[in-house]
Amino acid sequence: MDQSKQEEDYGYDLFPERSQGQQRKSTLKQSLFTFNHKCRVMLQLAMETSPYAKLLLSAMKSSGCNIYKDRHFACEDCDGTVSGGFDAASSQIVLCQNNIHQQSHMNRVVTHELIHAFDHCRAHVDWFNNYRHLACSEIRAANLSGDCSFHNELARFNFGLKEHHQKCVRGRALRSILAVRKISREEAEKIVDDVFDSCFNDHSPFGRIPHSKKDAKFAYRDYMNRDRYHANL
Ligand SMILES: [Zn+2]
Repeated sequence: MDQSKQEEDYGYDLFPERSQGQQRKSTLKQSLFTFNHKCRVMLQLAMETSPYAKLLLSAMKSSGCNIYKDRHFACEDCDGTVSGGFDAASSQIVLCQNNIHQQSHMNRVVTHELIHAFDHCRAHVDWFNNYRHLACSEIRAANLSGDCSFHNELARFNFGLKEHHQKCVRGRALRSILAVRKISREEAEKIVDDVFDSCFNDHSPFGRIPHSKKDAKFAYRDYMNRDRYHANL
């Protein structure tokens, strides 16, 4: 397998600036500056105000994985409709500045990718060779980031809430895997179903499924109190 084929298989084709996109940058300098600046401002706001992001950043800090805005985040142009990605090779979170235009969307993407970063920090995840590891982290990210709660808001009247949430998590995990790995839909479905129950029920570090910003605030408060309790021992 040659290098470019390999990059394509790991989903790097969706993130042109990860490989040799440097020339594109200068021709679009002006608009990229605007997008890039806006992206960085929204990222800062997400890190400071989203209870989901704040909880994950605290949890990673106490696991010994400090996250620095400039080192671990990159605002870049991406292909298609991808919003973000976690580049395990460089431990960097990519935010797709050309596809994220609203703060609420930025908050969800930052949270989703921070869950991957959290999994990367706490466990020895083999992102490239073990599809079950990848599937597990995608299930957790879809379940805990609010990705599916957002859709629940719209679908609340059509489905049972709980059933819809699980269907949404399964569907999003499947799509994420198929976007970055060249495997068949059937193969991906089997892997997701094999690990679904244990990964869906792993709510760490939230301690619950944060279905709304309010839930996430409570989870953050509990997390910080737990920390304080341990500090007093
Ligand atoms: Zn993901």
